[in-house]
Amino acid sequence: MRKPFVAGNWKMHTDSQTSVNLAVSIVSGSREVAGRSVAVAVIPPFVYLQAVVRALSTSHIAVGAQDIYIERQGAFTGEISASMLKDVGCTYVLCGHSERRQVIGESDELVNKKVAAAISGGLLPILCVGELLDEREGGRTAEVVGRQIKSCLAGLSAEKLSAATIAYEPVWAIGTGLTATPQQAQEVHALIRKLIEEMYDSESGEEVRILYGGSAKPSNAAELMRQEDVDGLLVGGASLNADDFVTIIKAAV
Ligand code: PEP
Repeated sequence: MRKPFVAGNWKMHTDSQTSVNLAVSIVSGSREVAGRSVAVAVIPPFVYLQAVVRALSTSHIAVGAQDIYIERQGAFTGEISASMLKDVGCTYVLCGHSERRQVIGESDELVNKKVAAAISGGLLPILCVGELLDEREGGRTAEVVGRQIKSCLAGLSAEKLSAATIAYEPVWAIGTGLTATPQQAQEVHALIRKLIEEMYDSESGEEVRILYGGSAKPSNAAELMRQEDVDGLLVGGASLNADDFVTIIKAAV
């Protein structure tokens, strides 16, 4: 049985006060379910991680980071290592979010190293994959997502894979208000699960958690979650509003 998982990616939003306020409001709204029937994580900007970890210390809500660097330590100005993220109380880390692929230019090869570094450092990576609009329109979704999964998980054993969550996030649906239909999401999630089975074994395919991300909101969360292979949601915009995020958390139970 895969436990549902809802994660809120705050991107480059909030400040020292509003990040803590948001965390506290999410805890109070989701107390009966968060961590019990649904795993929940919030993913604030690096600089507010510690404050949010503190605000969530008596809750069952985990904290994740939005990125990681591949080396343990050294002369890498501006970068943050797995051990630093562990040190401030992070459990999860996003790897290969489409904004980092599109805006910063991260390659599958780099994302693969980030996933490996996260797992070696004791973090649980959330590997993001997804096709661009013209790739979908050109009928290339399976090819693109398949390539991303194979490249980004290259060299990872089945045991290490069990630490990872995959997030299918069609790029055309992120922050656009456009959502994949539940059928479109299910189709790609099933494809990813089958690929994991082929790359590893049936147990790995059965156990890997696959989240959908892309304009998930209170009005579409339950329908998306009803799909057989949708195990949870990675939420951007709607995770910045405590009421909306709590509604989504409850829809995932
Ligand atoms: C995201 O940032 O991963 C995301 C899915 O954003 P949004 O929900 O705003 O589309």
